[in-house]
Amino acid sequence: MLHNTGPLLTVDLDGSTTAETDIESESKRYIGGRGLGTKLVHDRTPFDADPLGPENRLVFATGPMQTSNMSFTGRMSCTAVSPLTDGLLSSNAGGFMSRNLADTGYGAIEFTGAAGELTVVHVTDEGCEFEPVPGLEGATVPETAAYLEEEHGIESDRTAIIGPGGENEVRFASIMTTEERAFGRGGLGAVMGSKNLKALTVGGDSRPEVDVPATAAEIHREAATDDHIMKRQGTVSVLELANEMDGLPSYYFSEQSFDGADGINGDAVEEKKYKKGTCSACAFACKLPTRDEARGVETEGPEFEVVMAFGSNSGVDDIVDVMISNELCDRYGLDAISTGNTIAAYLESEAAFGDTELIHELVGKIARREGVGDTLAEGIDRAHDELGVGNWSVKGMDFAAHEGRILHGQALSYAVANRGADHMYATFYSVEYPLVAAEDAMEPSGMDGKADRLVDRENLMALNDSGIVCKFSRDYMTPERYETLFGADFEELMAVGARTVTLERHFNNRRGFDRADDTLPYEIPELDRGIEEYYEARGWENGVVPAEALPGDTAVESSAD
Ligand code: SF4
Repeated sequence: MLHNTGPLLTVDLDGSTTAETDIESESKRYIGGRGLGTKLVHDRTPFDADPLGPENRLVFATGPMQTSNMSFTGRMSCTAVSPLTDGLLSSNAGGFMSRNLADTGYGAIEFTGAAGELTVVHVTDEGCEFEPVPGLEGATVPETAAYLEEEHGIESDRTAIIGPGGENEVRFASIMTTEERAFGRGGLGAVMGSKNLKALTVGGDSRPEVDVPATAAEIHREAATDDHIMKRQGTVSVLELANEMDGLPSYYFSEQSFDGADGINGDAVEEKKYKKGTCSACAFACKLPTRDEARGVETEGPEFEVVMAFGSNSGVDDIVDVMISNELCDRYGLDAISTGNTIAAYLESEAAFGDTELIHELVGKIARREGVGDTLAEGIDRAHDELGVGNWSVKGMDFAAHEGRILHGQALSYAVANRGADHMYATFYSVEYPLVAAEDAMEPSGMDGKADRLVDRENLMALNDSGIVCKFSRDYMTPERYETLFGADFEELMAVGARTVTLERHFNNRRGFDRADDTLPYEIPELDRGIEEYYEARGWENGVVPAEALPGDTAVESSAD
């Protein structure tokens, strides 16, 4: 089976030391990316680790497909215990960093401890350098990127940077790469901040050589020639359909459709798009570089989730205002979905929906933990009581846009996902919107057959995150193509995904997660039945992984215990 090669580089920020560990057996079993990161964090981080403590380990991992030039492979993975969900969580970013990390020759890079002062770590195939950067305290992502380029000639496609949001340990701070691509969900930027790690840079000439079959070229050609609406409008292309289906969260989730949708839909974004945007080597090019000269804003996106959070959910009907919010989040290093949703919670508490000046001001206040920004920086789950609003989150993770109240399989996914109410964990919505080929489609309403399908989708998404293959490759990747590309039976590949999900759950169980955490803040028919069927399909008991369902090589006690 195709898998990462190269050792693990451990960077101990306490003493500015490094060590290399052979991880061939882990890479063989977990491929790379999220699977490998999950295995390493599971086995090497104490089960009771404080997400913001030095004992938390932050693992950056690329995957074996990043040695190819196939479309849909310009992504990479980062894993740690999340300060937002308190569970083991991986975040996946697009951009260009994945191949540059592969160039170092390492299979993964792990950070532990905490530096005594703000530090940049430079990793190449020739070694690791620690650079104290106290002068960058409070610097935004573009300011830090400019420093690295001016002082070191390192372009932003070789960097992972935090902004003030990460330094101030905002629980949903992002790690930014190429200034506009984010390891967004789950607050891994705060983990970097807790370690006083301002940036990681990577590079070298030691990318492993891997024979990639001709199928990769076929996929690349199809991605280049296909006329797909996402190439023009990205994920926002689904907004009109969601709104028509009564499935567009609006006014802090109190409504499910938005009168101002025309101002923030796919056409509105396309009108502001000024060039093609893509990730490394990807001919699908679904990204959205946008600008509005009149108001002096240039950004990438916003994507559907951000249009929901800062648009309909905040009562805002002008795409340029959403673009400004998006740019501010990237600049300060904040997950734009969680920032928008948390601000929407505040707008509800103040009856201030649609106040764009306030919204833009709050983004900076959250990043700096200034005034009410300090409360909001804790996220909806921890702040909603103080705000006097409902808790629209699962396991601490606020909701993505795809509306579980009409897409019941997606709702089941939100309830049971180890990452909480995030859409990319299973992308179940993609089989419930009436967009897919008849043989793949499921009726959005009801639970029939959803649990088994959810297990398959979670495993497939974990496989994609480990490979690493972008989830937007869904119209191009068939089981046969996975088999050809990865040199293994599809069943064997899906088992990698299953092991990854199970390890995440086991780690979280050891932190106290169980059936009570698999829940939703709203009712849908037969949710309990769906959850029970899901546990049965997984072989879990009451949301807990029994010893016999653990992968054979699992450390039941973490090595740090
Ligand atoms: S499909 Fe879009 S998000 Fe995925 S790798 Fe290609 S450009 Fe990036």
